[in-house]
Amino acid sequence: MEAPLQKLEDDLLKEQGVALWVKREDLLHPHISGNKWRKLKYNLKAAKQQGHHTLLTFGGAYSNHIAATAAAGKAYGFRTIGIIRGEEHLPLNPTLAFATSCGMQLHYISREKYRLKDEPGFLKEVQQQYGKVYMLPEGGTNLLAVKGCTEIVDDITIDYSHICCAMGTGGTLAGIVAGLAGEKAILGFPALKGGDFLRQEVAELVQDYNGQNYHNWHLITVYHFGGYAKVKPDLLAFMNQFKQQHNIQLEPIYTGKMMYGIFDLLKQGYFPAGSIIVAVHTGGLQGNAGFEQRLGLQV
Ligand SMILES: *Cc1c(COP(=O)(O)O)cnc(C)c1O
Repeated sequence: MEAPLQKLEDDLLKEQGVALWVKREDLLHPHISGNKWRKLKYNLKAAKQQGHHTLLTFGGAYSNHIAATAAAGKAYGFRTIGIIRGEEHLPLNPTLAFATSCGMQLHYISREKYRLKDEPGFLKEVQQQYGKVYMLPEGGTNLLAVKGCTEIVDDITIDYSHICCAMGTGGTLAGIVAGLAGEKAILGFPALKGGDFLRQEVAELVQDYNGQNYHNWHLITVYHFGGYAKVKPDLLAFMNQFKQQHNIQLEPIYTGKMMYGIFDLLKQGYFPAGSIIVAVHTGGLQGNAGFEQRLGLQV
């Protein structure tokens, strides 16, 4: 499995004297795509080593992490249980239909209860109900996930000045920061509104992972388009045009916003001439099936 680099050709890049490469993590695996594969890798190993037969995790109804965990369980011989936020809606949306087809057992809980999912009482209840399970947090972010994400930068063979990555929980960015150990300029693009809190989350994850505190990364928090999973016509138009020009499919939650942000920063002259940017395509394309009908996204 490989995540090759693809160079983009664009007039704006030429004008600015900047090179932009896309790290195609979306090509790592057909169903366990992008950063979710990186985040699961060492967790699956740990689960096997500890003698677990069941993975249990959490997510919303369109979660890439739910889909990836279901596919990974099927591929590597684990039973999977997905605790889904909110009520069941039938027919299942494409994400949950896929998870079910991989054998994932879905369990719906109210939004109120979902908020308490990290409390000890809730975890105890889950253990009582499902027995011995290997628990993956929401979005799959833990220290083994950070370890997996350090490997995103291991196979970048070109010399570069900047690396960009979309953010949900910040686990992937933490891995990139730890993996680069103070080298390069690292830009994180939160998909959520008010993503400033992620500074602390990432700093703590890196600190817990290797005890270090790096200063070569920062967050660009303005390209959230109204919030997580909020999709604006501007963004869809950009993604459709990007696909036509570069033949790379993006999705509107994470990678679309990051790439829009990179091009907007380019227009503003943010990147000095001579910059070589690597943009990480973190995958997540499974979610587009749900957006396709609703929003006229070309996939
Ligand atoms: C989950 C996800 C992210 C966010 O990853 P974090 O480690 O939670 O920050 C980014 N891009 C895509 C496509 C994702 O599915």
